[in-house]
Amino acid sequence: MQLERPEREMAEGLRDRGEALAARAVDWCSIPSGSRDLPGLARQLDALEQAFGRLPGRTERYALQPTKDVDGEGRAIRWEHGEALRLTVRPEAPVQVALTGHFDTVYGPESGFRAVQPRADGALNGPGIADMKGGLSVMLGALEAFEDFAGKESIGYRVLLSPDEEVGSLASAPLLAELAQGAHIGLTYEPALGEAGVLASSRKGSGNFALAVQGRAAHAGRDFAAGRNAVAAAARLAAALDGLNNRLGGVTVNVARIEGGGALNVVPGAAVVRFNVRVADRAGARWIEDQVGKAVAAAAGEDRVAVSRHGGFTRPPKPINAAQRALFAGVQVAGADLGIDLDWAPSGGVCEGNNLFAAGLPNLDTLGVRGGAIHSEAEFAWPDSFAERAALSAVVLARAASGRIDARGIRAAMKEA
Ligand SMILES: [Zn+2]
Repeated sequence: MQLERPEREMAEGLRDRGEALAARAVDWCSIPSGSRDLPGLARQLDALEQAFGRLPGRTERYALQPTKDVDGEGRAIRWEHGEALRLTVRPEAPVQVALTGHFDTVYGPESGFRAVQPRADGALNGPGIADMKGGLSVMLGALEAFEDFAGKESIGYRVLLSPDEEVGSLASAPLLAELAQGAHIGLTYEPALGEAGVLASSRKGSGNFALAVQGRAAHAGRDFAAGRNAVAAAARLAAALDGLNNRLGGVTVNVARIEGGGALNVVPGAAVVRFNVRVADRAGARWIEDQVGKAVAAAAGEDRVAVSRHGGFTRPPKPINAAQRALFAGVQVAGADLGIDLDWAPSGGVCEGNNLFAAGLPNLDTLGVRGGAIHSEAEFAWPDSFAERAALSAVVLARAASGRIDARGIRAAMKEA
């Protein structure tokens, strides 16, 4: 171990607090906070504001703008969102770090998955324990330890906790971009990839789209010829979209849902096709936009229906560049000095790290707990990973303070590529 003494003291202090870090996350997981559960999100935010408010600095709440969508009949609707929380500490310090995480989960109020249970093998199984209330406790643990570090004055930081990550971060996107502007490196606390603690290297970009098909309703017996079948047109559109798979490298289209129709004696007048797109780069995004436009034009012509397009790319791709490599190298050495063997690998998933990168901020986004099976009722985290991952972040902050990790140089390298 090549840890300097103050670094070792932080890591040892965190090891003693490992159970407390896990217990704090277990408490948070007992507050249901699905992305659409505004009362649950408000309760979760109160708990987080109390916990993060014990750090020095200033906390502020931000009301997020509603986001647009369409319902199953193609009518415009708006989604309301919970508030976001921002903590600002030492904004005048020469090196600025952005730390982000989300407190919404994929489990709505109707879900029966409501509390953490220990598994027989010791893992913690519960809603958000890995993704990412566990990660929020890790982040806070690292910051608490860092506030006892002698060299802390040369680092300032901003923490953004958001309520809408699992639905695409559309509402918190402006706050994420603003956070990225003022920082040199970013740290985000999604769970590690796989149980070995691997970090995400490159990430694809992602978009969510809805095509609202407007046909003409008619009686299926008396007036069939007057009808324009929106469900049949939607089905042809869905097939055309699915046919875009395996045509351009790195581009996938997942037709996720078709809505529309009702009684069997009615030609359906409205339908909606919802799909998600993943792309490796901006060229892929342009290609898919173009292809979707062609499919829409073809459907409008052949099926004599009107098709309106909603949604779009929510998160641009996050490729590997010189800045990302330099940041990972620094974190990898910090890990090795702590006895943690760190590797990184590409991920098809997307997260706030995509937003930060698109706004010019080099960042690592999988610094949360080791665990797995996220977005399912088998979601779990390993209790010993809380102290381990908090120590990793605390040492990274210490090295950004001492200059051993050159945060300003890493940020400058974003411009070179
Ligand atoms: Zn997450």
